[in-house]
Order: sequence, then C-alpha cells, then structure tokens
Amino acid sequence: MYNVPLPKGDFYVQFTSAVDAKLDPDYKSTLTVLMSEIKHRYAEYEQNVQNLETVTEVLRTADEAKALLSCYSPSLKLRLLSELRDRLPNRITELANAVAETIRCPYCQLEPAGRWDHFLPSGRFPDFAMYSPNLIFVCDSCNSGIKKDDLVSPIRSTINPYYDALDSTSLLECVVSVVEVGNERKLLLSFSISNKSGGCAYLVPLAKRHFCAYGLEAKFISVSAEEMVELINDYIFLFDRHRRHLTEVELNAWVESKRSSIRKLYPSQNYWKNALWAGIQACPDLLAYLMERCDRGRARPTVP
Ligand SMILES: [Zn+2]
Repeated sequence: MYNVPLPKGDFYVQFTSAVDAKLDPDYKSTLTVLMSEIKHRYAEYEQNVQNLETVTEVLRTADEAKALLSCYSPSLKLRLLSELRDRLPNRITELANAVAETIRCPYCQLEPAGRWDHFLPSGRFPDFAMYSPNLIFVCDSCNSGIKKDDLVSPIRSTINPYYDALDSTSLLECVVSVVEVGNERKLLLSFSISNKSGGCAYLVPLAKRHFCAYGLEAKFISVSAEEMVELINDYIFLFDRHRRHLTEVELNAWVESKRSSIRKLYPSQNYWKNALWAGIQACPDLLAYLMERCDRGRARPTVP
C-alpha cells in the first residue's frame, strides 16, 4: 500500500480525441451525444476522489456502454496505456531500478505490476473506461484474482493509491515476538493495520478492509520468512567474523543500519519490509533468539 502520483493531463480532451478518432459511425454518433454528460461525470469523479464508492452508477443502454468501452479499443488502448506508463512516477521507476526489481503492485506491494485495473469497474462504470485517474497499474493476481466489483462499492475495500494518503500515514504494523516451543525458541510474526495512526478517520477502517480482502497478512508473513532466514545467516556471518556474539548495543546498531537502508529504498511507511524491520527492532528477545539459532549445531561460543 503506497501512493503513486496521479496521471496528469486533460482527460476530457483525451476522451474527445478518442471520439474523433472513432471510425465506426454508430459508435461515433452515440459518443458524440454523450460528450457533455461524460464531461460532468469526470467532474463528479474528481469531486469524490476520497469516497469513490459514492459515485453514482448511471445505467447506460447496451449501445452506449459498448460505444464507451470501444474508446478503450485495442489500438487506442495500447497507445493510451503506453502513454500512461510513461507518466509513471520517477520515484517508483527509480526504486524499481535501485532494487533491480520491476514496479510493484500498489495494492499488495508484492507482485510486479503488469496491467491496468479499472478502479471503478468498467462493466458498471463504462463512463470511466478511459479516464486515466480511474486506471491503476497493478499485478495480475490483484486485478483478476482478487479485485471484485464489491471491493469498490457499496463499501469500499480497496485502497486508492492515487488519492488515499498512504505514504504519510503509518498504517501497517508488524509485531515480532519470540516464543518458547519445547526447549527451542521460535519467531512469531503478525502484521496488522494499526489503530494508532489517528488523523484520517476513514483511512484506518478502509486499510483494514483492504488488508483483509487482499489476504495481506498471510502474504506478508510468507515473504518475511525469507527476510528472517537472511537475518539469521547475516548474524551467523557476523559471529564467525568476530568470533563472539554481539552485545545488545551492537545488535541495535546493526538492525538500525539494515532498517535505514530499507527505508531509503522504500520511503513509504506502509511497505511491508519497513514494518517488518520496525518489528524486528522492537523485539525484546531478538538477541537471545539469534544466539540460539547461531549456536545450534556449533560448539557453544563465548558470550561477552
Ligand atoms: Zn497486487
């Protein structure tokens, strides 16, 4: 869950040029009649960006809907979409380059984004079929596997990365705890949307619904497992180099340096790795856990 900058441009002009470019006379005349209405619909969308679930669903005749969706026809779609992609924010492209990854989906933060999602679904809202602020670049799984019409209205359960203030509000929280199972210590992770964030009253319940609808807790725990293995391996590497365990102070400094390098790559407070590393840093038994993992199968080292 992170913000992506809104596409810029005169979207009504884009619509009228799509109508001008239409060759089919039936489509063209239907669209020409709808032009001024579409202009009002775009204005209505713009006035309701914080609560898009309240945008009215206007019943279109089958011909009207078909003509509106035809604005999104393959040849035009390709051009418009490649233009939209070019307008993707530098920050995200830079981040993607920095971590040698493709652009991540803003709904789940996990999969590479690869297709445009109609935020208000085009089947029910054909008026916004080619309205750029209604198009969000997301992953296949969120677009076709998860997002359903009812996740947008009547009660919205999908965050909008253009309009919801995700980057400036700390929503995602991770608690890392160590539990004793038999005579072994195990790590327990839990992710949730924090009630502490305050400020935007609508954002916390919305983020909770999104978090639940997209199954993010299980997904974040699953990707965190790799991070934890890396953490343990890095600790073992440090142990081998120093031939002793770290002190609490050294561990804190080490975790803080790892955390701040992730923060530099992913400034959004709600990126799962940021939340995970905040949780790791706050875990009181981390050193004891790492020491045990490091010692398992080795000669017991000297504890400073
Ligand atoms: Zn996704």
